[in-house]
Amino acid sequence: KEASSSERKGSDRGPPGHSMLAPFTSGTQQSDYHPLVITRSEGVYIFDNEGKKYLDALAGLWSTALGGNEKRLVDAATKQLSVLPFYHSFWNRTTEPSLKLAEELVDLFKPVKMAKVFYTNSGSEANDTQVKIIWYYNNHRGKPKKKKFIAREKAYHGSTLVTASLSGLSNLQNGFDLPDAFPYVLRAECPHYWRNHLPGESEEEYATRLADNLEKLILKEDPETIAAFFAEPVMGAGGVMPPPATYFEKVQAVLKKYDILFVADEVVTAFGRLGTMFGCEKYDIKPDLVSLAKAITSAYAPLGALLVSQKIWEEISAHSDKLGQFGHGFTYSGHPVSCAIALEAIQIYKEKKIDEYVAKVGPIWQEGMRAYEKSPIVAEIRGLGLIMAVEFGDKDPKKPFPASWGTGSFFGAECAKQGLLVRISGDIIMMSPTLVITEDEIKDFIRMFGEALKITE
Ligand code: PLP
Repeated sequence: KEASSSERKGSDRGPPGHSMLAPFTSGTQQSDYHPLVITRSEGVYIFDNEGKKYLDALAGLWSTALGGNEKRLVDAATKQLSVLPFYHSFWNRTTEPSLKLAEELVDLFKPVKMAKVFYTNSGSEANDTQVKIIWYYNNHRGKPKKKKFIAREKAYHGSTLVTASLSGLSNLQNGFDLPDAFPYVLRAECPHYWRNHLPGESEEEYATRLADNLEKLILKEDPETIAAFFAEPVMGAGGVMPPPATYFEKVQAVLKKYDILFVADEVVTAFGRLGTMFGCEKYDIKPDLVSLAKAITSAYAPLGALLVSQKIWEEISAHSDKLGQFGHGFTYSGHPVSCAIALEAIQIYKEKKIDEYVAKVGPIWQEGMRAYEKSPIVAEIRGLGLIMAVEFGDKDPKKPFPASWGTGSFFGAECAKQGLLVRISGDIIMMSPTLVITEDEIKDFIRMFGEALKITE
């Protein structure tokens, strides 16, 4: 239970909202529902219904990349709403913003040649669709046995039935008959060097061990049955885990050897978060398919998208007469308002050179925060660009603090008192502020974090 919710209990925040079944909220909090209600946003700040101001350390859910009141996005939405609020993209009909955005995305993604964009409403639907497209592709090319997916421990790929099964986090699966209900997932290791490396093992050696283990898994399962590997370039919701040096190079070599596709889940990392336009650029990943969402519209409206590479598209289109209609889509696939917002967001990212800006201010934030590594309660600080986790515990990764201490939630409540709203997952504090955060705001961020840390120590 978040310490701060006990303070909210009993306060006069208007109707309790008991009718809402809240996502990712504990049973006790659901039945005694006193949520923090956010009413307004401005730049990096959000305000609750009592007027309290917080620096939003997670930018919504790693998503409001351009902050809370970017007028150009509001104008783009308003303009589209007033001309054509909605038309669909089924049966050979579509709208101008969805066409334009597809061109823009194909052009923006440089690591490999992309050919097609498919729109969804969310990151979960993008990854769910990946599974269907990959099966479709393999069925087309006469490899119907290639059905399984490799995903990693601690991965987060969404919360639909399929994507919660791909995810390597038990809280998404407990009580939902998962992951057994989708028995096509093989689990690879989480590449967290600090926690998992052997004594004396370098990052490169650790990466070699993981790639060797991946190869063993593939051989044991039969490569002819394995379709694709899913990976976030930097694991996000599982605790912000950047890969060890040479990891993706070695993993990609193994996948290539066995004709296994690479799906880059860039839902968090795309559009500048790591200091490059896409996470694939940072780690020299050559994906076959890419999933996007969140910052694609700076979260001003829901939108997800899949980028389908030339390689995959050529195969599908070569046999397009075989399976008839591509029988997949959502009412809101390519929603014109969301696409109009995304077009404007991408224009702003380009004008601001958002990747270069993050590459400049990211290290200031990272270095400032790393001063807290000396704290006796900080086990590890990890991250790059504008994404970071601070993990509490003993310096020895094998000795986490007992859960009963509630260090993370105590710290989170102290942060909120300071005016910094962080994400807490056990003893891991996760942060990914808006990409337009200024150097002064970064200083303030680091100061508030430090104040809360002092009290927690
Ligand atoms: N993939 C990653 C890497 C994510 O972090 C998320 C959400 O946090 C998703 C997929 C799911 O996206 P959505 O919540 O839009 O369904």
